[in-house]
Amino acid sequence: MPLYCEDCMKLVDGAVCPRCRNRKLREVEPGDFCQVADVHYMQAEMLKELFRDNDIPCTERSALGAGITVNLGVNVGTVRLYVPYDRLDFAKELYDVYFNSPAAPEPEPERTLLIGHVYRHFKGGLYRVEDVAKHSETLEEYVVYRKLYGDRSLWIRPKAMFLSPVDKEKYPDAMQEYRFEPYDGEEPEKTE
Ligand SMILES: [Zn+2]
Repeated sequence: MPLYCEDCMKLVDGAVCPRCRNRKLREVEPGDFCQVADVHYMQAEMLKELFRDNDIPCTERSALGAGITVNLGVNVGTVRLYVPYDRLDFAKELYDVYFNSPAAPEPEPERTLLIGHVYRHFKGGLYRVEDVAKHSETLEEYVVYRKLYGDRSLWIRPKAMFLSPVDKEKYPDAMQEYRFEPYDGEEPEKTE
């Protein structure tokens, strides 16, 4: 059973909720409302109708939390939709069908880690991803990767961070969107 963050009403991969850093997670139960998607309120109306037509109970929150957004006038247009865990897969299928219509925006694809693949760091160095390891205390996943130059030493870094975008404020000139991106050229020769 996946773990569930009650505060965020969200299924969580790993031992810590990535949104609120909550560690008091529990196993999800069939009736727990889980986040399906963040959508524009116009799309939310259509999705809610689609869910209703398919007998899926649905609840919503504004993406910034109830109550405050209307007063601030910020991001009022975004709605977060939730359905019970036992209807989540079906709801996601309906969501996909709806959003794959040509008029809808593309959801951002989730990045997958390619084990054994060479990645290029945004500062230029090449590294090979050796494997993924779990931290014994937090259960957080770490990427184990080898430097393909210099001392060819072995490094670890949290997987979420490994796959994350470059901080464009800190590095405005970075040529890559992500900190590490798959590299399709030849793996460099060992030079001693
Ligand atoms: Zn949370």
